[in-house]
Amino acid sequence: MRILVISDVHANLTALEEVLADAGEVDGVWCLGDLVGYGPDPNECIERIRRLPNLTCVLGNHDAAVLGRLEFEVFNQDARSALQWTQETLSEASWRFLKSLPERVVIGEVTLVHGSPRQPVWEYLLDLQTVHDNFRFFDTPFCFVGHTHLPTIFHRGALDIFPFAGYLPPNQAIQLTPREIVNPGSVGQPRDRDPRAAYALYDTETRVFEHRRVTYDIAAVQERMRKARLPLRHIERLSLGW
Ligand code: ZN
Repeated sequence: MRILVISDVHANLTALEEVLADAGEVDGVWCLGDLVGYGPDPNECIERIRRLPNLTCVLGNHDAAVLGRLEFEVFNQDARSALQWTQETLSEASWRFLKSLPERVVIGEVTLVHGSPRQPVWEYLLDLQTVHDNFRFFDTPFCFVGHTHLPTIFHRGALDIFPFAGYLPPNQAIQLTPREIVNPGSVGQPRDRDPRAAYALYDTETRVFEHRRVTYDIAAVQERMRKARLPLRHIERLSLGW
């Protein structure tokens, strides 16, 4: 099956639409959380995502915060005001959809979580020691994560050796080999200094994973963010990709 893997859409409908158009026909969609927060289109993004074919979606930390399950205090000031705005803007239907999302899903050979297999909603996989420890917290050959907004692959061999970490090059098909933790990057707010929307295509039969980048109309999103009076820092960072 050809699967579209998306994460950290963060209420950026323009980026999401470009990703969906670029991906073309797929058999299913795996969404790794953080549908809202930062961006100006929370309801539109949720509405679009929930109608995608064969959707499997997990809960992110921003989604959890909007639902009142995480204290706003754990976020920085700008993220907090964006969350506040999102909470006020969210429709009843959007709220219900977010509330229905599980924190962790196992689908075939892959475990899906937002942050890490140990702490699905909150933990960041940014250093090798943390990654190493996390391999004990899932049983499937692969685990797909989001949360850092960095397209990365962590490989662990048969022995208890330190994981190998690599940046996923765009538009290059990679053959996954057990066991690996893979991050497709962020659709709505990339942080690897490449402002293009990031996503991946995954073939469940061949285990080929392709990280892709696509340009979108960043200025249009920034304009909507300005109108919504969202934090300036979040508006500016979209053009820089961090
Ligand atoms: Zn995020």
